Amino acid sequence: MKKTKDFQRFSFPDDEKKLPWLPLLLDAYEVIDRGLVDAVKEHEKKQKAKLACQKGCDVCCRAQNDIPIYPLEMVGIYWYAVEKIGQPLRETLKKQLLLHAKGPRCPFLIEHACTVHPVRPAACRQFNVFNKPCAEGEDPYYTRRYDVLTPKRKYRDRAFSIMLPFYGITDDAAKSHAIKSGLLDSQAKPMRICSWRQLAQRMDDFDFNPK
Ligand code: SF4
Ligand code: SF4
Repeated sequence: MKKTKDFQRFSFPDDEKKLPWLPLLLDAYEVIDRGLVDAVKEHEKKQKAKLACQKGCDVCCRAQNDIPIYPLEMVGIYWYAVEKIGQPLRETLKKQLLLHAKGPRCPFLIEHACTVHPVRPAACRQFNVFNKPCAEGEDPYYTRRYDVLTPKRKYRDRAFSIMLPFYGITDDAAKSHAIKSGLLDSQAKPMRICSWRQLAQRMDDFDFNPK
């Protein structure tokens, strides 16, 4: 599904001027992606293993039960889906969101690709597997933990620190406390239990009455 070795900071200059939360999210994702490049290189060297994740590989998007999503990430996905996804993907996505049955298959997966790729959650970015692609229905976290990347904590903490102003936490001491105490973790919920019908409705509203 993803190619961790290639990364860029996604950029939406006009939107970033209008939406103060957007550069926070994109900057944080840049840090996470940079950290992954670092961690993958290190894992490949130490374990003599090869990253198995690649474009079109999507078992993880169909079989994962535990992908957490944070409030700021949810805002990012709503924005991207409502304002950036065009036809014909848009209609397919709306249908999938309406039909989503709170199961492990992610509603954003269409034709083996992530429709919200630039703003996919940190958990999706961080799930990387080595040596061989996941088998159908496999969750390698349980079947072969040694092949699953352990992201570097310092990048995650830095990314969370960048996101914290969205939650009203701006000074350094409060940020440090929030990260150490896992405050942000308590705000996350699994993607599979989210009510994605509301997003389909927002996309419809936008189509009939664009801003
Ligand atoms: S190897 Fe597994 S985690 Fe990696 S992209 Fe393929 S299905 Fe997803
Ligand atoms: S958001 Fe994208 S990368 Fe994450 S599970 Fe869904 S389709 Fe896969």
